[in-house]
Order: sequence, then structure tokens, then C-alpha cells
Amino acid sequence: MIDYDFQDIETRWQQKWADEGTFEVSEDPGRPKYYCLEMLPYPSGDIHVGHVRNYCITDVISRCKTMRGFNVMHPIGWDALGLPAENAAIKRGIHPEQWTRQNIASMKRQLQRLGFSYPWSREIATCDASYYRWNQWFFLKMLERGIAYRAKAPVNWCPSCLTVLANEQAEGGACWRCKSTVEQRDMEQWFLRITAYQDELLEDMKQLPAWPERVLVQQQNWIGKSHGAEVDFPLEGGQAIRVFTTRIDTIWGATFMVLAPEHPLVDGLLAGQADAAPKREAIGRLRAQDRRARLEGKLEKEGVFTGRYATNPFTRERIPVWVGNFVLMGYGTGAIMSVPAHDQRDFEFARKYALEVRVVIQPQGERLDGATLPAAYEGGGLVVNSGPFDGLSADVAIPKMAAWAQEQGIGKPTTSYRLKDWLISRQRYWGTPIPVVYCAQDGVQPVPGSELPIVLPPDAPFTGEGGNPLEKVPAFVDARCPKCGGAARRETDTMDTFVDSSWYFYRYLSPRKDDGPFDAAAVQYWFPIDLYVGGIEHAILHLVYSRFWTKVMRDLGLVSLDEPVTRLFPQGMVHRDGEVMSKSKGNTIAPDAVISRYGADTLRLYILFAAPPEMAMEWSESGIEGPHRFLQRVWRLLDRHAEAFAREPLAVMPAQLPPGATELRRKTHQTIEKVTRDVEERIQLNTAVAALMELANELYRLEGEVAAGAGRPALREALETLVRLLNPFTPHVCEEMWRRLGHDTSLAREAWPVSDPAVAREDELELAVQVNGKVRGRVTVARGDSEESVRARALAEPRVAEQLAGRQVVKCVVVPGRLVSLVVR
Ligand SMILES: [Zn+2]
Ligand SMILES: [Zn+2]
Repeated sequence: MIDYDFQDIETRWQQKWADEGTFEVSEDPGRPKYYCLEMLPYPSGDIHVGHVRNYCITDVISRCKTMRGFNVMHPIGWDALGLPAENAAIKRGIHPEQWTRQNIASMKRQLQRLGFSYPWSREIATCDASYYRWNQWFFLKMLERGIAYRAKAPVNWCPSCLTVLANEQAEGGACWRCKSTVEQRDMEQWFLRITAYQDELLEDMKQLPAWPERVLVQQQNWIGKSHGAEVDFPLEGGQAIRVFTTRIDTIWGATFMVLAPEHPLVDGLLAGQADAAPKREAIGRLRAQDRRARLEGKLEKEGVFTGRYATNPFTRERIPVWVGNFVLMGYGTGAIMSVPAHDQRDFEFARKYALEVRVVIQPQGERLDGATLPAAYEGGGLVVNSGPFDGLSADVAIPKMAAWAQEQGIGKPTTSYRLKDWLISRQRYWGTPIPVVYCAQDGVQPVPGSELPIVLPPDAPFTGEGGNPLEKVPAFVDARCPKCGGAARRETDTMDTFVDSSWYFYRYLSPRKDDGPFDAAAVQYWFPIDLYVGGIEHAILHLVYSRFWTKVMRDLGLVSLDEPVTRLFPQGMVHRDGEVMSKSKGNTIAPDAVISRYGADTLRLYILFAAPPEMAMEWSESGIEGPHRFLQRVWRLLDRHAEAFAREPLAVMPAQLPPGATELRRKTHQTIEKVTRDVEERIQLNTAVAALMELANELYRLEGEVAAGAGRPALREALETLVRLLNPFTPHVCEEMWRRLGHDTSLAREAWPVSDPAVAREDELELAVQVNGKVRGRVTVARGDSEESVRARALAEPRVAEQLAGRQVVKCVVVPGRLVSLVVR
């Protein structure tokens, strides 16, 4: 049944590539460069199919680009610090480093079995002191510039991971790693001042036209720049309450105010009132409610009237001041103007306590009434019941009202951001030690650069009883103050591992350099990264931090670029039985077993063929049979002709060819065009594979007709072209076939075929592509293209693909010569 011995072929070629250093690269000013990067894996123990998908995409692009004459950098490394290693240490009594190194070794073997084209001499692991010393070096530079600083702040504490988390890692109140509910604590921590770059991070998105819109939107939302206004509401008897609002256009509808239970003014407001004591008690109860639940508005709205009034500075009306559980200190000013008609939280509160709901924004063509309104109307429209501002549209009213407040001296336009500084302290062992010491006399002192690296002590105890193991290693903690020479205590916090991944792609360029983090000339040659492939889940954490890091490095004079990555390509996930494949669901597939049964080439081809690379792919056992059979077919075809071609001298293509040979040549040259475009420009690898399958079919169909006689050179051309174009996808079997065709060069460095447009030309048709009945794009196909190929083209058309993102195609009808109709859900 098995026609070719993939096991023998694959191990043999992997060995040969390794022996000959086939994928090792260096700077070569004579060739255009191409830096093709994938997100480095965390060494958790096994490579899973999700990794394989990511790395297959970059491997095909890298191999294709190399054949196209580019000098390609396609490195790999290990994101090797972090909590799982430490947890494994506690659970199994194995040192984090040992656990990590074992996993790296086994995952490396798995990657090598897949035949990826890595320059292994550039492999890095972030747990090497020779790597993380540069984290420490960067930290000291940032400390000097005030970008790194220490401050007491309310922080997110994960009670399960026993460490603090960055805001980005505690979104929605859950730990990003273990999903535990995060608690709030006040602690002294180290921060990186990413907020100093918030405007630039937003502005420079203009330099990223080849990043997917959805990633940029996520980053934009994360930075959360909003234009608003601050306005003072005077209290009876003096003082004023300052509020921040993004909807000053609704201020004429502010019929009461709400303060956070923690607001410092609350006590004073209650002073002297007869019933102050029960009110204080009720407010105390609000304050004790879970902060996270309050923030998310999950709790029933509750409040206490303070008995005091303020003045709405626009309407000049007297409005009651309440305390409410849905207002928090630390967000805005801890006080809000309540506009129940146009804010749902305020609306619920107002209905509960029978407070006035006054409509001041009317949507086009409607007449809302505050008395009967079923829910807040939060959209735009025309300003009404707002004195001199009546009749303006809400967008226009916002800057006008803010300007008016400024003229009156009662407020001003402001800008606020959601982004907070990056908290990098972690109270755990398996991370980069933060290079400072604490001296009783001199306070915080940076460790001199000459003492780097501060290395993790190998003998820390992993008890699982909480606390940082580093604190229990006197030889580590006891340090000397660089200023006075006296005894000092070494910092035991380690850095967030997202520091490691913020700049690793620079280190690949000079991985063994020991007098600097990277070689500037190498960066000059290789940067920016031309293509970065990885999971969409990194849209905000890693991909914001690494943009920030590059900007800091630029300001330190280390690099001369603003943005590290030109094109970002998030690959789709791998599903199985309709669910995302994941370790926790127990539905993962081990590539090793698949490779043993079908070979690495088949696995690669299957993963690339099963779905467009940016869309989710459903893993199916039966699906892998098709690509496997395809490779067998190609192998048999070649087996019939290779020996003869290897012996024959290369024949000149005759000017006049029999009809079958003309047809075959046309298909060959069309396939070159299609595959080149699909791989190099569009990263539509599935349609490229489909085109190669068509070429193989055509070879089968015309083989008998052209094998002998004047058409024979066309057969050879088609066969060799097929092998060369297929090489990036299934490199082992292609190398073997190439060898059997009589070549003694490695295909890895063989030239990519070039198409002759005159040969490829054919009648073409334009088909409309409908999505749910609407024309969303057009595709050009050749007359006689298979339905399968037309369908694949339609799905890959960028404007159609946009419509399909995140949805499922439930039906696809090809009306030959006219249109493709897709039904999606
Ligand atoms: Zn956790
Ligand atoms: Zn000192």
C-alpha cells in the first residue's frame, strides 16, 4: 500500500540538512533579505498541532522565499522562563531548569522530525543566563531613564499563582494563565512606563498597513484613548466635586451625582447630620462588596442618599448627591454625574430610587420620553432640553460644551487612557532577577552593569508553601551595596516573562554575542521583520509590549526603527470535534503519532491544505488520507519517468508542440503563477496546494499523450516544476524526487520556477462571489477550472475572506461561468 518509504526518506534528508548546515544563514548584502518569524514556543513538554500549523506556514514561506533568491532568516528559540516550570518543580520535585531543558530537548526532536528549515545554530532559550542578562541590562538602562520605576500601587494578585499580574493579564478579573479570580492588593512593585509611549503606540499604527485590522482595533481599545471633559459640580457650602465624562453632550440630563463609597468627601458630607451613623454603616456595607463585581456592574445597583446637594453647573439646578456601589475610586475621579436617560447603569439606579430621568438626546425620527423610557438610550442624535445647545448634533455639542465649561472656569477638555504602566514584578523564582539591591542607608541601588548577570541560584527550595523561593536562599539575598559597600538585601522579585519575548527576535541575529544584546549591523541588515506569524491571542499582550520595547530601544540609541514587524499574520486555531484543541480539554493530537503513521510531509501538507491559514481548521482523521494519497500519486508518476529523465540530456523545448503538450505547458505555467502569488503575496497556502493537485491531475491525464515524441520535454518540464513548487510544502519527498530526476543539488537552494506569461495565457472568466446573496467580490478563473479550485479562489478573495472571518460557510454553490454563492453563519 505504501509506495514510498517516507520514514527512510525523511530521516535521511533531515540528517543531510543538518550535516550540511543547509539552513544556516549570515548577512549577505548581495541578496535581498527576508526575515520570517514565528512566535517562539513555551517548552511545555510537547509540540501540538497548533504549533505545527504556525510553523508550517512560516516554513513554506521561508523555503519559497529562499528559492526565490532571498536571503532568509527563519530562526527558532524557547520562551523558557515562567510559572509552569516552577509549578512542575513543586508538584514533582524536579528543578524548573531540569524540567525546562528536558522539554526543550523533546520538543526540539519533534520539530526536527517535521523538517522545518531552522538555522539551529541560532537557537536561543530565554532561561539561559546569557540571554536574560540582557533583560537585566535593558532594565538598568530603563531605570537610568526613569522608564523603569518602583511604586506602591493597587495590584492584581492571583491567589493561585501567588504572584501579581499586569493589568493586561488580569482582564475580566481572571488570571490569564490559571483563570482564578484575581484579588486587589497594595504592594511596592516595579513598573515600566509604557504610558509614556501611549500616543506613539496609537499614532504608529499608521505605519502598519499590513497588520490585520482586528489586531490594531484590539490594541487601540486596550490603550483606550478617549476624549472627554472634566467638570466641577459645586457642593452646597463650598467645595466642588470634579467628574470626568466622555459624554458632556448629555450634561443637561444630569439629574443627580454618585460618589464611590471610598470617596474622600463622603465623610465630610455626612458630618453633622442626625442620621449620619446609619448612613455610614450602609455605605460601609457598599464598600465591602467585591471590588471586581462592582467594577463589572454585576451586582444589583445599591446606593445611599447623602442628604446633600450639588449644583449642575450647566442647568444651575440643585441635584442630590448619592453614594453608589457601581462607582469606584481609581477609575476616573471616583465621582460621576448621573445621566439616567443616556447611561444604563445610571438608568437602573434612577428607576430603583425614583430619581428623575430626563431625555436630552433625541435619536433621529424618534420622540423619547423620560417617564416611559424602558432603558437608557446611549446612542447619538440631536441635543434637546439643553438651553443654548439645543439642535446641535451630539458630536458637535461635545467640543462646544467642553469649551464653554473652560470659558466659565468650571472645567476643561481632557484626554484619558485605559492603558496603565506595565507591572513587571513577579514574586516567583523562574524569571529574570531584577538587578537592584536595597541598602538601609542608600535605599534602592542598581547593581553595576559589570556584575551582570545576576544568576538564579540553583539551590532554591520549592515547597509550594507560598512565598518566593529566592527569599530562602541567603547566598542570593545577601548582597553588598554598590554605593557604601555595606550589607544590602537583593531584590527577589523576578521579571514578567513577557519581558523575555519583547525583544528575543533581535537576539537571534547574534545569539552568542556577549558584549551586547545584539549586533547593530546585523539589525540594520535584517530588520524590520518581514513576516510574523502567531496566534491572535497575542494581539494585545506580546504584540503591544514588543512594539513598546523597540521604541524604548530606539530612544536608547540601540536601533533606528519605530516598529519591529512589517506584516503580521495571525493563523487560525485548530479545532477537533468542533472545539478548540487544547491540553485542558484533552483533545490534542500528538504530531509524533501522525508522523509515524503517515510521515511528516503528509502531516505538513494536510495542515496546510485543510483550511485557509487565517481561518479555523477542523482536524479530522479521515482528512489526512487525501493529502497522503496525493503524495503517493505524485511519487508513482515520478517513479515511472525519473530514471529515464535522469539519463536523458535536457532537451530544448520545440517551438511546435502536439496539442496535449501545449495544454500541459499552459497548465504548468499557470500553476507557477498561481502558486507563487498564493504563497508569496497572499499566504493562501491551501489554494496553492489545490493548484498543485490540479497540475498533478493534468499530468496524469496527459501523461500517455506526451510521454513519447515531440511533447516529451513538456512532460519533463511539468514534472520538475511540480517537484520544485511542492518542495516548500513537502520538502523531504521532493528532495528525494529531485535526486531521482538526476540532480545532485539540494532543492532547498534550487531556483523557483519562472512562468512564461505567453505560455500561461488562456481565456479567463470573471465570476461574481456572493455572500448571503450580496456580491462581495469577483474572482478571475480560467475556463475549465475545476469547481473545487473556483470555490477555493472565491474563499480566498480578500474582500470575501473579510466577510467570512469568524463565520462558518454552510453552503457553497458554483454556477459555472456565472457566479459563486456562499451561505455563511
Ligand atoms: Zn493564576
Ligand atoms: Zn549603601
